[in-house]
Amino acid sequence: MQSILVPLIDVVWPGILAPEVRERYADAAIVARCASEFAATHRLMVDHAGGRYAITPYAGFLCEDALYKGELLEAYRTAVAGGAEVSVHIHADRAAGEARYSDADFMRASIRARRADLASAGLHTTSYRSGEFGFSAVLADVLVEEGFDIDLSSAPGHADPVNQAFWPAAPRAGHYLADGRLFEIPIGVDGQGNERVRNYMHVEVSDLDNQKRILDSLRAAAGDDLPAVTHALFHSYSSALPAMAERWQRLLDYAAGSGWTLATPAEARAAYDRAA
Ligand SMILES: [Zn+2]
Repeated sequence: MQSILVPLIDVVWPGILAPEVRERYADAAIVARCASEFAATHRLMVDHAGGRYAITPYAGFLCEDALYKGELLEAYRTAVAGGAEVSVHIHADRAAGEARYSDADFMRASIRARRADLASAGLHTTSYRSGEFGFSAVLADVLVEEGFDIDLSSAPGHADPVNQAFWPAAPRAGHYLADGRLFEIPIGVDGQGNERVRNYMHVEVSDLDNQKRILDSLRAAAGDDLPAVTHALFHSYSSALPAMAERWQRLLDYAAGSGWTLATPAEARAAYDRAA
């Protein structure tokens, strides 16, 4: 059966919580740096993923809409025209003081505002991802009410009550949540633990061999009837670090060469639905 990897690019700056950045969160120089790092990442994604990937720009208390404006919005539009998909990405985690993934009014307002930003550039999305893997039944309802059909917030095996992340028994492969109303595309995980540095496909925090091992374990665990759908997380700022950029491109090349189809969230969901 088909295995589908959604390469996911989180657009944000490094050291987001460092005091010196925090004070200047929407500083034009920082936003410009994010834009140039995203442009470099996009070139890499064209070369190594055929341009098919997910873009999840940070939105949250540190910068609100700064990464959903101006030249970044234009860059997302170019990427989407080339086959990528942009997803609303809200950080309502404890960094803001208290996680708010169960606050329906707050989540609805945040999601609508960022979606409107995207729509102003002609970008329409029905996929969503939380920061820090936060989620709730309330959020699922909000997403469905707002017309979303894909969520990318799950980290199977992971629980972090402070951030309202609760995925201890979540399936490792793509599946439907919320009474079949939302297709969940989890971050890749080997199913052997919940340490970010070892068990998950957060590409920057573990080496290439470990990332390949997780991918292989997902393929081996895939059933015969439905495609195995997963995502791998990489951040736009890492493309400026040669060793990180190389790790990511080699991982994408390995995936493509070992039977994985690289796809956007919507393409992954469509392939799953066709097989179901
Ligand atoms: Zn994020």
